[in-house]
Amino acid sequence: MSAQTKGEKVFTGIAVSSGVCRGKVLVLHQTRHVITQRALPAAEIPNEIKRFEQSLLRTRQQIAEIQRRVAETMSSSEADIFDAHLLMLEDHVLIDEVLKIIRDQSANAEFAFHSASEKYVAVLEAVEDEYLRERAADLRDLSARVLDNLLDVRDQFDLRHLTEPCILVGHDLSPSVTAQLDKNFVLGFATDIGGKTSHTAIMARSLDIPAVVGLKTVSEELTSGDYVLLDGYSGTVTVNPTDRTLFAYGQLEKNKATLEEKLHEILWQPAVTLCGQAIHLSANIEDQHDIDSVIQHGAEGVGLFRTEFLFLNHTDSPGEEEQFQAYRTVAAALKPHHVIIRTLDLGGDKFASQLQLAQEMNPFLGWRAIRFCLAQPELFRAQLRAILRASTEGNVKMMYPMISGLDEWNQATAMLEKCKAELRAEKIPFDENLEVGAMIEIPSAALIADSLAKRVKFFSIGSNDLIQYTLAADRTNEKVSHLYEPTHPAILQLIKMTVDAAKKHKIWTGVCGEIGGDPVLVPLLIGLGIDELSCAPAVIPEVKYMIRRIKMDEARALAEFALQSESPTEILARCLALARATAPSLFNDLG
Ligand code: PEP
Ligand code: MG
Repeated sequence: MSAQTKGEKVFTGIAVSSGVCRGKVLVLHQTRHVITQRALPAAEIPNEIKRFEQSLLRTRQQIAEIQRRVAETMSSSEADIFDAHLLMLEDHVLIDEVLKIIRDQSANAEFAFHSASEKYVAVLEAVEDEYLRERAADLRDLSARVLDNLLDVRDQFDLRHLTEPCILVGHDLSPSVTAQLDKNFVLGFATDIGGKTSHTAIMARSLDIPAVVGLKTVSEELTSGDYVLLDGYSGTVTVNPTDRTLFAYGQLEKNKATLEEKLHEILWQPAVTLCGQAIHLSANIEDQHDIDSVIQHGAEGVGLFRTEFLFLNHTDSPGEEEQFQAYRTVAAALKPHHVIIRTLDLGGDKFASQLQLAQEMNPFLGWRAIRFCLAQPELFRAQLRAILRASTEGNVKMMYPMISGLDEWNQATAMLEKCKAELRAEKIPFDENLEVGAMIEIPSAALIADSLAKRVKFFSIGSNDLIQYTLAADRTNEKVSHLYEPTHPAILQLIKMTVDAAKKHKIWTGVCGEIGGDPVLVPLLIGLGIDELSCAPAVIPEVKYMIRRIKMDEARALAEFALQSESPTEILARCLALARATAPSLFNDLG
């Protein structure tokens, strides 16, 4: 039954891309292939195998074409998603199994492929791991395309030719579907499944379109033409919204539009508090394609360049030359602002398939970041040389992730000096005064901050890890997310120790973890003496808006209160109260 015959109904899911939109939905039902088994005469088997191989080839061409289009219209990280599809197409275990079914059972290719791929999808879907479940969705998407080619079915929806604005609703919107859409006609996305890291979410954020995923049954309950209101802030989809709901959202949209104007006004203004204290406000990036976003959001350079993303989704590790090109492009584009390049932080929850890291019992406590680099001198050397070479192209700084003690710092420094000596001998220029800092993201580093501060040029607090390691709460596990508290007194003490040591030795301290981009926590961090905040480009304007309204005495009083308090909840409540009083426009939500 269409939702049009019912009253207002609210579906609640996970907000993955902010914004509100309203309009008619277009429900994309997945093409259901009817697969029947046919017994083939033995003489036809070679032809059937050929037909299967041709369908793989055709699928490969289609995906490569989509990938090319995506790379043109979005960034390469979106296009890289299709590398996974291409890799699956070459998966020999899957292909061998299909060939075996065709040969052993004299079966038709569609039946053989469908049976084999469904088996893998079922295995991946059964795993309690969001990432692997999303790979199941990738495999489904790919299988549907191969079956379309075997059965000669043409794409059911050509989203490039939409004629009126709509909100797309589907069980899942596969990357190959979203890649085709005409952004002018798609107001938002809503899907039954997915999480914050699902590809639909990645695409929606990149296209700046409001999106909600994980709505469970929305694609079954809605019919094309139903009128909905999609809230990408709180993660709801309201079908047949009442006048009251529409009025409330009308207000919200007006407030957001007014806020956007206010944020726009300060886009090119400096990040200084009301009493003139300058805070360095920079951006976190993942590759050179983020440069435009950094500039457009008014960031002062880059406080964290997560270089491991150059290694993820690639079949080969990028060598010295490829890395050099990426680093120099960013440094040159953002000069004179600094670009802090963090050396490789692979391991933990970030794996590069080409490096074949062994599975570990406790990956976050294992062979990760600087530990991994020190054990892979050739890999580390290539990166250090690339960074050194790029240092002549702009204001480059470098930092090491996961420093836990002086030994690692000393080993990394020795390696760096060796690379400098090599470059000198090769007469390759680099900045002799390249500043090198350490991330403070392990409690032991904060506890020996005084010793580290004598050696480093700056600190950058990686609060995402500092919180997980201090509170023993896995940052990726929703079951312990209630323990993951940025305002826990232990965290604040570690930040204070770090800042005190830095000030004593006349170096500066930044925060590049997620808390640095949370306007609620910004006054507290500034009150604690943080000099630099680095966050996702999209949140820079809000953080700057907050900074420009802060009075330092209020921020310091908040920090003093927080350092005395024994309760994370009480501290958070105070932060929220001050943030709301300081910048009420940032908190004009429905609640
Ligand atoms: C952090 O840990 O806060 C950080 C910025 O590093 P990453 O999130 O990449 O681990
Ligand atoms: Mg970290």
